[in-house]
Amino acid sequence: MGESLRGIGVSPGRAAGPAYRMTPPPPVPAPTPVTDPDAEADRAATALAAVAADLTRRAAAAAPGAGAEILRAQAMMAQDAELTAAVVAQVRSGCSAPVAIDRALAVHRQAFQSAGGYLAERVADLDDIRDRAVAACLGLPPPGIPDPGHPFVLVARDLAPADTAGLDPGRVLALVTEDGGPTSHTAILARAAGLPAVVRCPGALEIADGVPVAVDGSTGEVAVGVDRHAIAASRIAEQRRRRRLAAGQGPGRTADGHPVALYGNIGSARDLHGDLEGVGLFRTELLYLDRVDAPGRDEQAAAYAEVFAALPGRRVIVRTLDAGADKPLPFLDHGDEPNPALGIRGLRLARRRPEVLRAQLEAIARAARSATADVWVMAPMVATVAEAAGFAAACRDVGLPTAGAMVEVPAAALRARALLGVVDFLSIGTNDLSQYTFAADRQCGQLADLLDPGQPALLELVAACAAAGRAAGKPVGVCGEAAADPRLAPVLVGLGVSSLSMAPRAVPEVREALAAHTLADCRRLAAEALAADDADAPSFRTNSP
Ligand code: PEP
Ligand code: MG
Repeated sequence: MGESLRGIGVSPGRAAGPAYRMTPPPPVPAPTPVTDPDAEADRAATALAAVAADLTRRAAAAAPGAGAEILRAQAMMAQDAELTAAVVAQVRSGCSAPVAIDRALAVHRQAFQSAGGYLAERVADLDDIRDRAVAACLGLPPPGIPDPGHPFVLVARDLAPADTAGLDPGRVLALVTEDGGPTSHTAILARAAGLPAVVRCPGALEIADGVPVAVDGSTGEVAVGVDRHAIAASRIAEQRRRRRLAAGQGPGRTADGHPVALYGNIGSARDLHGDLEGVGLFRTELLYLDRVDAPGRDEQAAAYAEVFAALPGRRVIVRTLDAGADKPLPFLDHGDEPNPALGIRGLRLARRRPEVLRAQLEAIARAARSATADVWVMAPMVATVAEAAGFAAACRDVGLPTAGAMVEVPAAALRARALLGVVDFLSIGTNDLSQYTFAADRQCGQLADLLDPGQPALLELVAACAAAGRAAGKPVGVCGEAAADPRLAPVLVGLGVSSLSMAPRAVPEVREALAAHTLADCRRLAAEALAADDADAPSFRTNSP
């Protein structure tokens, strides 16, 4: 048995198998004299064609909405006649194939960047083409997710949303990253896919490819160099855990019967999984991703209707478009914002493009009319009472009677009482609320401690919202990643929230955690967490969930 590494467990479950690291981009070799320019031009063209063929194959295999359109557009870029001509010209001027590809793509990159808008947002796709084509020239494996031909534990510095298109939960047993945090894309992706995951695990990238590791996504432990007995023990423990969780069904409640609705966070009907009381966060961005034009009302209504039909008689809370910042959308042309996270994102987009919100609300209303689901609608990034009132009026205008506001900005939490004077419910988005409360970019793994939803300052804001909800007799739920943490869930309930919404695969663990605590336990844990000086001190962190 080798060493044991420790990080933050962000997606429960155990898995064991050989570790493989994300393949890094290849280094571009130093320029060397070219003796046979024709052969070199051929080598470059063959590499670009191979990249295009691979991207086309991945686009065909990708699920709709999982970036297939981006992959297809990227394949076309790789085959672009102008690009090929530019590469050949570089070869003719004396460059080897990889150097020619690098230089030609650098020129394209510059042009895209100067053009701004949609083209500037495609620069990362050009970089990816360069890395893949250079790797193909050098006979190296393509950068990104490795393909060892058997199931493996994926080790990476962190995963970007773009990496998820190539991630097959059938082959990846677990995720381990050196960076990232509880709200990073790695954590969100792992919970959605039901994969055990450990983030912020120092030393992970030093694990050699093929070394067997055992990952515990609850405790954050990664045992390196385990033997076959440890692998078998991990599999048995995981099977037991799954059987135990499968045995628990039904609505969420504490040990003494206090009800807490357990909802799912979804991006489309495909994400519905297991026994859900409803959907607490229907992220609608997926419909708009990879699009050059906004989807029409009919297309939107059909996508919403599919979700509503799957949940007859149950609640579905649809969040209107939350574009901008870490979710840029090509058709909106976000322009050159110096600080997109503090810019025109979420509901603020309606200031510039009111017709986009109006069309979406009309499509939701149309789908809701022919469904029995209890459809509620909420806006992301609400900051003021006036914004919330405007949104609620727009909802009622199209016949959507139940309108809410997400609390993602501290200003909204501070004004929770007044907000509940104009909307019917609040839903706390702890991912963004952490980011804006701590002035810490949610994508910055090095600030994971500040982004930890157990931070007392964040919990105080949650408590203020819950108190406002109790006073107004209106529901206040949590739909950020905090709700998916089985250790934190009882604390949130103790603070007074009425529902928890999370990746559907996280529901069984949270249901089990609530069933193990009385409401008085939850309140005691909440008081302790609020009184602590930091997120690590309270006992909910150290006790098993
Ligand atoms: C949040 O910010 O907590 C949230 C649920 O929204 P998203 O993660 O989609 O920004
Ligand atoms: Mg958010």
